[in-house]
Amino acid sequence: MATIRPIEGRSVHQIQSGQVISEGLTSVVKELVENGLDAHATSIEVRFKSNGLDAIEVIDNGDGISPENYESIALKHWTSKLTSYADLDSVTTFGFRGEALSSLCALSDLQIVTATASEAPKGTKLEFEMSGKLKSRSVTAAQKGTAVLVENIFKTLPVRRKELERNIKREYTKVLGILQAYAGVCVGVKFSVFNQPAKGRRTPVFATKGNPTVRENVSNVFGAKALSALVPMNLEFEMKPTRKGFQKAAKPSEKMIKIVGFISRPVVGEGRLAPDRQMFFVNGRPCMLPQVARAINEVYKHFNVTQSPFIFADIQLDTNAYDVNVSPDKRTILLHDQAEMMESLKVSLTDLFDNHEQTVPNSVT
Ligand code: ADP
Ligand code: MG
Repeated sequence: MATIRPIEGRSVHQIQSGQVISEGLTSVVKELVENGLDAHATSIEVRFKSNGLDAIEVIDNGDGISPENYESIALKHWTSKLTSYADLDSVTTFGFRGEALSSLCALSDLQIVTATASEAPKGTKLEFEMSGKLKSRSVTAAQKGTAVLVENIFKTLPVRRKELERNIKREYTKVLGILQAYAGVCVGVKFSVFNQPAKGRRTPVFATKGNPTVRENVSNVFGAKALSALVPMNLEFEMKPTRKGFQKAAKPSEKMIKIVGFISRPVVGEGRLAPDRQMFFVNGRPCMLPQVARAINEVYKHFNVTQSPFIFADIQLDTNAYDVNVSPDKRTILLHDQAEMMESLKVSLTDLFDNHEQTVPNSVT
């Protein structure tokens, strides 16, 4: 009979890390970009090598990491952003679990170059052991900010690595989708994305200019022509207090919901063949909102049966009206009073489209 043995500490760490980085490349890029945004970066550059298979580097011009934190940043559950679980409700920064860097140490070759404003142009290069323990630090030239280099992702999980190699094209497309979402929604942040094939030079993929509006960002990312096929969405409605719990306790301001963004004109010929450009946000945080997606697509179908809309929709609502802490990757969001919200959404979107038809009857030209 086989003896039951405890799993070796290192393996546990690897398995758990694989769960944090559950969405593969998308999770890696998302975590690193969010760290840059949390550090107040106004410029974020993402460099892929071989679509991310060989390397992913995220370079920001944010606050940098202070020397007193070097030892702890990659240790599990160390985070400068949260001290207790109770803080989760009010958390406004993107990252809050202190797991991304720790997981990347267990899954890849991680190297960080960082400099705070007072240190630049001198910076520090940091390397870590698989456990997240600091392995080495050395002085190097660096501008203010942080560059995180992730090489050979999933090298310690051979099955995941093989799977990634097999699906790299699709994974890379998904990653670009999420980067487009961040670049679109983050006003005042300059995004630039590059890819370098195994044999060849680094080439730009897309870039934004640090614009003051989402509109300009969308134009930079998807092109001025794409923008001209869109109508601005600016829906605002109140959830009716039909349910107990949150709604009963809610203050008036907590019941207001805004949906801000862009959507394809509700006219045949103005949509897209596939629902491939649909981005959703909650208070500026990119996330998956299948219910909202379904509701919007359903309304759009009434006006354009043959196509799917481009959707860029930021749902702005009180932080009490949803939970972020649903999935390990923080991308799935639980909206309270969802059914209610979807009904109101459909009504106001239908209104918007009806009015659009009346005011711009020849908008196709
Ligand atoms: P979390 O973001 O949940 O705190 P991470 O593992 O992503 O956990 O990062 C750990 C810590 O490392 C952060 O709390 C932050 O203090 C520091 N850090 C990570 N990335 C950056 C960055 N790009 N700029 C400045 N500090 C960073
Ligand atoms: Mg983080």
